[in-house]
Amino acid sequence: FPVENIRNFSIVAHVDHGKSTLADRLLELTGTIDKTKNNKQVLDKLQVERERGITVKAQTASLFHNCEGKQYLLNLIDTPGIQAQTVANFFLAFEAQLSVIPVINKIDLKNADPERVENQIEKVFDIPSDECIKISAKLGTNIESVLQAVIERIPPPKVHRKNPLRALVFDSTFDQYRGVIANVALFDGVVSKGDKIVSAHTQKTYEVNEVGVLNPNEQPTHKLYAGQVGYLIAGMKNVTEAQIGDTLYLHKQPVEPLPGFKSAKPMVFAGMYPVDQSEYNNLKSAIEKLTLNDSSVTVHRDSSLALGAGWRLGFLGLLHMEVFNQRLEQEYNASVILTTPTVPYKAVLSSSKLIKEYREKEITIINPAQFPDKSKVTEYLEPVVLGTIITPDEYTGKIMMLCEARRAVQKNMIFIDQNRVMLKYLFPLNEIVVDFYDSLKSLSSGYASFDYEDAGYQTAELVKMDILLNGNTVEELVTVVHKDKAHSIGKAICERLKDSLPRQLFEIAIQAAIGSKIIARETVKAYRKNVLAKCYGGDITRKMKLLKRQAEGKKKLRKIGNVEVPKDAFIKVLKTQ
Ligand code: GDP
Ligand code: MG
Repeated sequence: FPVENIRNFSIVAHVDHGKSTLADRLLELTGTIDKTKNNKQVLDKLQVERERGITVKAQTASLFHNCEGKQYLLNLIDTPGIQAQTVANFFLAFEAQLSVIPVINKIDLKNADPERVENQIEKVFDIPSDECIKISAKLGTNIESVLQAVIERIPPPKVHRKNPLRALVFDSTFDQYRGVIANVALFDGVVSKGDKIVSAHTQKTYEVNEVGVLNPNEQPTHKLYAGQVGYLIAGMKNVTEAQIGDTLYLHKQPVEPLPGFKSAKPMVFAGMYPVDQSEYNNLKSAIEKLTLNDSSVTVHRDSSLALGAGWRLGFLGLLHMEVFNQRLEQEYNASVILTTPTVPYKAVLSSSKLIKEYREKEITIINPAQFPDKSKVTEYLEPVVLGTIITPDEYTGKIMMLCEARRAVQKNMIFIDQNRVMLKYLFPLNEIVVDFYDSLKSLSSGYASFDYEDAGYQTAELVKMDILLNGNTVEELVTVVHKDKAHSIGKAICERLKDSLPRQLFEIAIQAAIGSKIIARETVKAYRKNVLAKCYGGDITRKMKLLKRQAEGKKKLRKIGNVEVPKDAFIKVLKTQ
């Protein structure tokens, strides 16, 4: 394929705007898939993707298209709704050649107003309205114009076939039988079956067993040339051997690696435990299999006195966490307890001479138990994100109140048309990880949309909060909270514990404390639960049964000081609502 006839492009839009549906129409129009079949989000192969209508993994397809007597090779990346990382990566690599084609979808909807949208685009992005292409992906209206624009407005990739091989790994998946399948974009040179290739990242050498294009399923070819996008299998056993951003080159022909990208950093952490400890090994193998295909999830073994052996998992964001959990349940039939998500805080340790082991240095705190005391710290930092909310004007007031209650700082507010407002806020990440999205949806009757991107760290007054039962700390309930939120969060935890702790022979004081200062308290009154009181008179076997059941129930209890806490109470307090 002559390079002049190659185009690389990607469909970028919010979740639900029709990227996958448009991809289906493009696949049909170019004859890549049959038109007669009832194609629905063909590139979305996972069950969770089909059910929830979101794309989890980026999928690539090469399309062949005839235009004015010439054959073109169009490489499409269907962008995922959550791993924006992959797309960002791809774009970074192709940055120098970026062109934008604005496409307005869903013009078939009754209340669609494409002219108004064109004006918005002109206003917000400074793109002339006559450059917009108006389509209906669902009905297949005007799809040819999209292909036409891809050919006319996107330049061919700038690559060199005569140079030695330089291939960028932009995604990788794991196949049980064939090992790692690396998706590659070739910037220079050629790669053939049988070539010896080297990973710039690991310096390991592999022999190429198979190369090919994605059509959209893998279709082997003899070679892949610079400018092409395709896949490569080379006996790699683990996705970490084909890291996204890695450069592959030919053995004995080393090249300057392509500008790698920052690896995806997990921003939301949660504990995961099997509902029943006997399920531990099954869950372990399910997690291992899933992470083989999603190397952005980090896994560390963890254990809790109350919930048993489990893991601490790190995710890119909330949706990522939810999808991972759902895939575990659907694809592996696992039932798990997921604890309330937390975010990675940081602390700058002071360089006091008294603390010899520390120079001034920054540490990341993932586990609240490792939260360093204020006396050893210059400052604490918390992760922040830039959130964008788009809402009908009538809800603006309520939404602003919600954001302020979440310690967010307004950065921008514009009317994108007569009755819709776009708000930008800087949010502490931990303020949105639990129920922000649900609150936003419910106070805007479902109309407001929310999206966020990473915005670094900011100084924060953080404190470690302990929960005490009759004066004894409950280790699994230690949390790190913002000073201003300590009281309300402490109170909520105490209340939840009060509701789920059974009465016992003595009174139980439930307290939230910061250091030695008590900030919230609830009391569970004393009560003797006499199981035999229910039995009137003589049925001895029934009495025995009840006593046995009570004894079994006790096994699942954990003793904190003299207070017995059932596993259920922990789950109620720790679990995501
Ligand atoms: P993605 O999340 O951007 O990949 O969006 P999908 O392609 O999964 O589409 C989301 C929803 O919008 C699906 O229910 C589609 O059937 C629907 N949809 C996509 N394109 C159109 C369109 O042109 N018109 C209408 N009415 N619905 C569409
Ligand atoms: Mg999609």
